[in-house]
Parts: sequence; C-alpha cells; structure tokens
Amino acid sequence: MLVDNERKVRKFGKGTIACRRCGKHTGVIRKYGLYYCRQCMREVAKELGFKKYQ
Ligand SMILES: [Zn+2]
Repeated sequence: MLVDNERKVRKFGKGTIACRRCGKHTGVIRKYGLYYCRQCMREVAKELGFKKYQ
C-alpha cells in the first residue's frame, strides 16, 4: 500500500533519518549521534553547552 511510505517518518532505520525533535528529514545531522535537523541543532546545541553558535 502506498500509504505506508508516509509512515517512514516514525522509523529510524537506514536511509530514513528524521529529526527526533521536530521530525523533519531535511538537514538532519547525525554526525554526533544527535539526529537533529539544523534548526533544532542550533537550539539543542545551546542546551548541551555548545557555545559554537552564539
Ligand atoms: Zn528538528
């Protein structure tokens, strides 16, 4: 069924990486095992103590 394709948003398997904060697929960073998109990364980075983005 074609509807199943939309359900991949909830899966975290290979090739299907979504931001675990907002669920977006675009610009997701998994470099540090964080799995956040760029936008969430900025906000989360501050919470984690990264001063990089300030
Ligand atoms: Zn996000």
